[in-house]
Amino acid sequence: MEENIKEEVIVDENESSSKTYSNFIQDIINKDLEENTYGGKVHTRFPPEPNGYLHIGHAKSICLNFGIAEYNKGLCNLRFDDTNPSKEDTEYVESIMEDVKWLGFDWGDRLYYASDYFEKLYEFAVQLIKKGKAYVCDLSPEQIREYRGTLTNPGKNSPYRDRTIEENLDLFERMKNGEFPDGSRVLRAKIDMSSPNLNMRDPVLYRILRATHHRTGDKWCIYPMYDFAHPLSDYLEGITHSICTLEFEDHRPLYDWVLRELELESPPKQIEFARLNLNYTVMSKRKLLRLVKEGYVDGWDDPRMPTISGLRRRGYTPESIRDFCNRIGVAKADSIVDISLLEHCIREDLNKRAKRVMAVLRPLKVVIDNYPDDLVEEFEIENNPEDMSAGTRKVPFSKVIYIEQDDFMENPPKKYFRLMPGGEVRLKNAYFIKCNEIVKNEKGEIIELHCTYDPASRGGESPDGRKVKGTIHWVSAAHAVDAQVRLYDNLFTVPNPSEDSEGKDFTDYINPNSLEVLEGCKIEPSILQSDLNDRYQFLRMGYFCLDSKYSKEGQLVFNRIVGLKDSWAKISKQ
Ligand code: ATP
Ligand code: MG
Repeated sequence: MEENIKEEVIVDENESSSKTYSNFIQDIINKDLEENTYGGKVHTRFPPEPNGYLHIGHAKSICLNFGIAEYNKGLCNLRFDDTNPSKEDTEYVESIMEDVKWLGFDWGDRLYYASDYFEKLYEFAVQLIKKGKAYVCDLSPEQIREYRGTLTNPGKNSPYRDRTIEENLDLFERMKNGEFPDGSRVLRAKIDMSSPNLNMRDPVLYRILRATHHRTGDKWCIYPMYDFAHPLSDYLEGITHSICTLEFEDHRPLYDWVLRELELESPPKQIEFARLNLNYTVMSKRKLLRLVKEGYVDGWDDPRMPTISGLRRRGYTPESIRDFCNRIGVAKADSIVDISLLEHCIREDLNKRAKRVMAVLRPLKVVIDNYPDDLVEEFEIENNPEDMSAGTRKVPFSKVIYIEQDDFMENPPKKYFRLMPGGEVRLKNAYFIKCNEIVKNEKGEIIELHCTYDPASRGGESPDGRKVKGTIHWVSAAHAVDAQVRLYDNLFTVPNPSEDSEGKDFTDYINPNSLEVLEGCKIEPSILQSDLNDRYQFLRMGYFCLDSKYSKEGQLVFNRIVGLKDSWAKISKQ
């Protein structure tokens, strides 16, 4: 897989304007430009069906469609592919627009809906009937399936195949006028019932369906099928290259047939690429909808979801998602991308720009016995060692502080360099402290440490060259801001939860520990200036941002975006 990723990288790491695209799609475009197929034009579209929220797989398609248009100084449309009224909703339309914008792409004034073309599509269907290339068929859906044959057996002609053009025109019009019940008749293309490609065995072009459409209401009771609506929507918008995922490869002959039989000029070209699959998650909208409906997550934007809105709430940046999409590239063969690559991309991005702060997630109280009771000192600490222009901030220090429970061990193993009885550790940018006494509760749990500090080690510098191996973070108790912190793990326990095995459902593989909520975390006071757009590195603990759903005035709730350990770096070195 790793080789695959390396080979298919299509974009260098520079700015978008200096991208050097080289992939099989750009090769096709180059040839069209050379041969002047579309008069030098490149026009793509992103065609979501508004039946769910967008996910990271869609981001790949968005980056590709908008990216290729931009690279070739062309245009990319946003088109809602809304030909299936029963599952579609304006909630989805709005979320999709928000997500595409947030990712950093602009469709200008080219926002379209396939439903805008219902009238024209109907006219195109009438033209096909007039040419003897489409007919109304009265077979039931089961019979149609039966007559279609199989991969090894040719299909049989429908007994309605040879209806006259007049009869077909009349029946189709009456279908439109609502004279027949749902499912009783369909309009079919007249192609070839013995074609080796099942999609070419007189595919259905229109069906009768009484469902209220989110835009056209009850105006229509017949709806075009995807395979008929899509090539024609592309044509009507002047699309040149219609980029879609691999499962449509077998539909391409039908895409081309529709445009050819209608004798349309400069017909668009369908080009397929492999969809993005990520391990430890699911990407099908049907499955994502179940996770939401059945309450496994707290909404489409749950920070564990692979949706764009979930990644946004988790704290991912648009830059990191675009970087990820560029790195995975486009290929013709399906593969599964390791989720650690996505995490690597956000880490790289935030390492450059996230402000560092100290936060203690599982606090242990430390009293510094020899520190003056009322003294408060301020230490100046850099905001980002990777970016000196980020400046410094002052962090208060006082007699009682919190450290991580993990940073103290009563009976440490060898090579434990943090705090231990009688041992000395450096408090980051503050002082050396030594632990003298442990206080426990009735259950024997450690609840407090008593330490002494070395005043000569101010700023965390060794006063006499003596070495202290461990440096830990801390927060002054009197100045600490309380927060809830939410830690996330993969939503599934297995790499491919969608694989059907032994009659199991994908929900059987949900990770019961995918969310850990920590209360009473202690953060340095500079965090009070944070807003929803800020992302932080909590020193040694990972990258964090405020949760847009649960954070309120006076109640800080942080999401861990990603931990600091980069497992991608390890994988890519193997
Ligand atoms: P549905 O099963 O509802 O059709 P879909 O995932 O295909 O689901 P669409 O809204 O039709 O969703 O997708 C919009 C565009 O995004 C399509 O061009 C589709 O090919 C592309 N797309 C969807 N999923 C992925 C993916 N995992 N990787 C890359 N592109 C994808
Ligand atoms: Mg689709």
